[in-house]
Amino acid sequence: MEIAHLRNLLESAGIPCDVRNDRLGGVVGEIPFVECWPELWVRRSGDVLRARGLIDEALRPAPEAVAWVCPGCGERIEPQFAQCWHCAAAPEPEP
Ligand SMILES: [Zn+2]
Repeated sequence: MEIAHLRNLLESAGIPCDVRNDRLGGVVGEIPFVECWPELWVRRSGDVLRARGLIDEALRPAPEAVAWVCPGCGERIEPQFAQCWHCAAAPEPEP
């Protein structure tokens, strides 16, 4: 996730923010927001909670893939595997 993307996300939600590339020159009353490099700062402290919620949502991983059951042997296979570790069958196509 690029910081510029997060910034666009917040600004489109009406939360003004700045990307800072230097750790010097912080302004009193501004909130260091995303603890990474570069930093994303919201301009109004009242926006912090809302901004954090938006970013948490943006950073949330896609819904977890589900395990599948091998059509060949009935083994339960973890979603990261494209074929059965037991009999090498492929999952059945989605109905
Ligand atoms: Zn199998």
